[in-house]
Order: sequence, then C-alpha cells, then structure tokens
Amino acid sequence: MSAARPVYAPADPVELELFRDNVRRFFADEVEPHIEKWEKDGRVPREFYYKMGEAGLLCVDVPEEYGGSGASFEFSMIVLEEAGRMGFLALSSNLTVHSDICAPYILHLGTEEQKRHWLPKMVSGAAIGAIAMTEPGAGSDLQGIKTSALPDGEGHYLINGSKTFITNGQLADLVILACKTDARAGAKGVSLVLVETDRPGFKRGRNLKKLGQKAQDTSELFFEDLRLPASNLLGEEGRGFEYMMTELPQERLLIAITAVAMAEAALEWTLDYTRQRQAFGRPLAEFQTNRFKLAEMKTEIQIGRVFLDRCLELHLEGKLDVETAAMAKYWLTELEGRVMDQCLQMHGGYGYMLEYPIARAFADARVHRIYGGSNEIMRELVARHL
Ligand SMILES: Cc1cc2nc3c(=O)[nH]c(=O)nc-3n(C[C@H](O)[C@H](O)[C@H](O)COP(=O)(O)OP(=O)(O)OC[C@H]3O[C@@H](n4cnc5c(N)ncnc54)[C@H](O)[C@@H]3O)c2cc1C
Repeated sequence: MSAARPVYAPADPVELELFRDNVRRFFADEVEPHIEKWEKDGRVPREFYYKMGEAGLLCVDVPEEYGGSGASFEFSMIVLEEAGRMGFLALSSNLTVHSDICAPYILHLGTEEQKRHWLPKMVSGAAIGAIAMTEPGAGSDLQGIKTSALPDGEGHYLINGSKTFITNGQLADLVILACKTDARAGAKGVSLVLVETDRPGFKRGRNLKKLGQKAQDTSELFFEDLRLPASNLLGEEGRGFEYMMTELPQERLLIAITAVAMAEAALEWTLDYTRQRQAFGRPLAEFQTNRFKLAEMKTEIQIGRVFLDRCLELHLEGKLDVETAAMAKYWLTELEGRVMDQCLQMHGGYGYMLEYPIARAFADARVHRIYGGSNEIMRELVARHL
C-alpha cells in the first residue's frame, strides 16, 4: 500500500516504433470511420473498449500477472500521442482515465484481491474505469469535497453525495471515489473507495454537453445511501489526499504529452494548408508574416518537446516531482493553446469549420488548461516550492 512512484526500464526504440505503427493503423481502421457518429452520440460504444483490449492497447503497463503486458509507460504514452496527433483528443481523455489513471491507482494501492478482480477486466475492456474527485461545490479545492463515507457499524460505509464532470461517467463499471471518511479532518479526512456502478444507490446523471471532446462522456454521478463493504477501501483510510497528490503528476504529464502531440499535429496541418492555399497569386506559406509565425511555432514546440522529454525521463526514473509536473502541465498546455489559435487563424474561415481537423482540435484542446488541476493551481504548486 505504498504511495511511491514506479520506476520503468527504458523501452527498445524499435519496439516502440512498431507499436506506434500498430496504434496508428488501429485508430485509422477502428476510429476514423466512426468518430463523427460517436461525437453525435456523446460517447464511444462499449465495444470499442473490447476492441482496444483485444488489440492490447488498454492498460499496457499493467504487469502480466494481472493480464497486462507489463510494458513501459512509454507504450501508454504512444497510445495517447497517436490519438492526439490524429485529432481524437476525446479518446485520449477516455483512455487516459481508464488506462493511465484508474489502473495505476489500483495497481499501486489495491489489495491483492482488488488487483486480481479489477485489473484483468480493465485490460480486456470488460470493465471501464472512472475517477470521481470533482463535486459541484469543489473542484480546485479538493479538500472541500463533501461526499461522505461513514461507517454503519456493520462493516460497511454508507455513501452520500454527488460528483460532476466525470470522464467515462456514463460507461464506467468502476468508480474510484474520493470521499470524506472524517468530515472534520480536512485533507486527512479524505479516503478513496472503489464503487461498482451496479450497486443500489448509484445513479448516473446527465451526459454533459461540452464545447469540445464531444465523443467523451462527461457526467454527473449521484450516491444515495449507497452501502459499500469496508473491503472496498482503496489503500488506507484518511490517506486519499496524499494518494491523489502522488498519482496526479503522472496525470499532468499525460496531459502535457497530449498537448505537445496536438501542437505538433496542428503545425503539420497548417503547413500543408498554407502551402496549398493561394492568395494574391502565392501560397499563404510564402508571405513573410506567415513564414515567421510558422518558424516561431516550430521553435516553441521544439523547446516544449525537449522539456517534455526531460520530464518523461524523470518520470521513468520515478523522479518526476509535483512542481516539475505542474510546470509541464501549465506551460505545455498554454503553448498548445497559442499554437492552436495561430494555426486556426492561418486557415482563415476554413479553420472555423468542423470538417477541418484544426477546428475540432482548437475546441478539444481548450480543456487541457482546466482539468487535471487548472493552470492557476499549477502555478500555485510551482510557487509553493520556490
Ligand atoms: C471535460 C472535463 C473532464 C473532466 N474530467 C474529470 C474527471 O474525470 N474526474 C474529476 O474528478 N474531475 C474531472 N473534471 C473536473 C476538473 O478537474 C475541474 O473542472 C478542475 O479541477 C477545476 O475545478 P472547477 O471546475 O470546480 O473550477 P474552480 O475550482 O471553481 O475554479 C474556477 C477558476 O478559478 C481558478 N482558481 C481556483 N482556485 C484558485 C486559486 N487558489 N488561485 C487562483 N485561481 C484559482 C481556477 O483556476 C479556475 O480558473 C473534468 C472537467 C472537464 C471540463
């Protein structure tokens, strides 16, 4: 039941590239033809998770004894990078939550029984995970959550409260729930419990309508007198806040990884577009003002990529600290925001049309500055360690 960070052996670069090719092919065959429908539906179908599982693309770093392939974190990263690069950011959020947030919580904090029960199902796609911290009255201020889990004196917790903005909320079979086991104890009163969504007292609310990432289900969740066995506690009582602080750097790094992949993709789309589009008898890419902007974006993205690679190196060594992950999350998502805006501008009116990938990416990427801890909170974390 440790909150320590794992260390990963470096992956073979050839294997990584082969894996990347497979992921690309998989997304081209299994996502591209369906993404518009999924955006209309506001979710991906459950079968998609089974297909991802069959292709070995879910929870890839889960050890073999729990059904995974025990691969390095770099393989997980490739799945997200490719989803971002192909313009499927909603999927990247779904998958991050399932594979790279929920599964590690269980792997690092779960009992042997919890790991054997949940991890193989998460690897195969038979069980979909969500993590519920945010409440209508508490987002950034996580210590202020009100959802309560009180012992009923018969070996159970009685859970009451509500959560909002929960990724995978409509599809989830398992919710890792942040709740208060001691309402008076502030951060030390926060615990994590595993809630199966077929328990009486669990209700899903609306699938929320969003500006972007429309294929990602984002929900309200309600817990009304839900009885949960004490054996569903994840880790130790009262250590939930500490566990979240330990796991959040990986979540923030994942957002930063996707942000850089998206910025790189946006620049590629814009280079293609501005080379083809003519104005005043010349391609847009030949106007000096555009050439300079393209050069600036290329430079900034490269600087971002170098910092990101350093953060990744630290993470693989188990040394990525809270403030460096916060720097990466805020700075790289703001770089992404600047690049998206500039690239959209260079597409002119076409950039505002959803049939162009830049329009969807612009809307999808906006939330990177908000979730996983807002960028203001990231600055606060950096400032705290000065
Ligand atoms: C698409 C989407 C998916 C999400 N998925 C999940 C999920 O799966 N699970 C989950 O638990 N949550 C999820 N969230 C919630 C997300 O993490 C929160 O929205 C985020 O943490 C901000 O909380 P809030 O919305 O309550 O804003 P608030 O905390 O109310 O903040 C509002 C504004 O005030 C600023 N602010 C707050 N405190 C300070 C401060 N001390 N100093 C300076 N500025 C401050 C914030 O930066 C922000 O700009 C998701 C959100 C979205 C939009």
